[in-house]
Amino acid sequence: MTATIIDGKAIAADLRAKVAGEVARLQRDHHLTPGLAVVLVGSNPASEVYVRSKGKQTVEAGMQSFEHKLPQTASEAEVLALVAQLNADPAVHGILVQLPLPDQIDAQKVLNTIDPAKDVDGFHPINAGRLATGLPALTACTPLGCVMLAKAVLPNLSGLDAVVVGRSNIVGKPVAQLLLNENCTVTIAHSRTKDLAGVCRRADLLIAAVGRPEMIRGDWVKPGATVIDVGINRVPGKEAGKTRLVGDVAYDEALQVAGAITPVPGGVGPMTIACLLVNTVRAACAAIGLPAPSV
Ligand code: NDP
Repeated sequence: MTATIIDGKAIAADLRAKVAGEVARLQRDHHLTPGLAVVLVGSNPASEVYVRSKGKQTVEAGMQSFEHKLPQTASEAEVLALVAQLNADPAVHGILVQLPLPDQIDAQKVLNTIDPAKDVDGFHPINAGRLATGLPALTACTPLGCVMLAKAVLPNLSGLDAVVVGRSNIVGKPVAQLLLNENCTVTIAHSRTKDLAGVCRRADLLIAAVGRPEMIRGDWVKPGATVIDVGINRVPGKEAGKTRLVGDVAYDEALQVAGAITPVPGGVGPMTIACLLVNTVRAACAAIGLPAPSV
């Protein structure tokens, strides 16, 4: 029996539709249009693609999108001044600074300057700390998406053994915190973990956020486990000169063993922007003292 494929594209589309409904309600009842500002420094082609899709999906959900493009040579002071201006702008409820930033700019300093109430990427230490202490927080989008996808097949995560491979601040650590808040028993594995295959084999819920193409093999997966593959890796394609995307999990192998699995592409990827829209609506509600929306 092969695993259920968790359709991130469809789940993300459904979430975006819910966000659009919430935005329409806020406009009708409160004359509030949530606004998301995205700052792009330089011309990294992948970042340009992400920023374009973020802007498009923001507008499609009925929100305002503000795009700010600075040249590759922009100074740290210029970026900090722009963030300060966006912090002060009442039409902007969410601010996202697209990473990576050019070398002359200290990314952590920029992230620390974003008003935590507008930090829709959830990377500010205040939001990371609030998540870690169980307080309401704007939470990083990819981790939020991972948990939503897991819950699409496992509505109650309580008591499950969850293994997160990867401990970055943007994926591994926050996803582990979210799973702990869901009452999973969480193991965080990384490059120094002993017997990684054995650790993964214990997981009822396995989250792979490593950045190594197909590193997690089918025989590392416990039969029936739910596998969420965050990895996005570009590898040579079958035709000469072409490339294709693969995850951190050997999909075809894991499909034979897992109970449910996310594909790459079409799994976690589409959830990230959908969750960014959710965070922007949440930030907008909080800005005018409304309770958290139902999305
Ligand atoms: P990082 O490079 O920041 O972190 C990778 C983590 O994997 C580190 O904690 C590292 O351990 C661990 N690791 C590396 N090699 C091994 C190994 N051989 N065995 C065990 N652990 C290992 O990556 P990110 O967290 O930023 O991203 C992870 C993946 O997710 C990437 O493919 C990225 O493209 C993708 N991604 C996808 C998103 C989406 O929207 N779907 C969004 C963000 C990321 P250590 O700490 O010890 O070095």
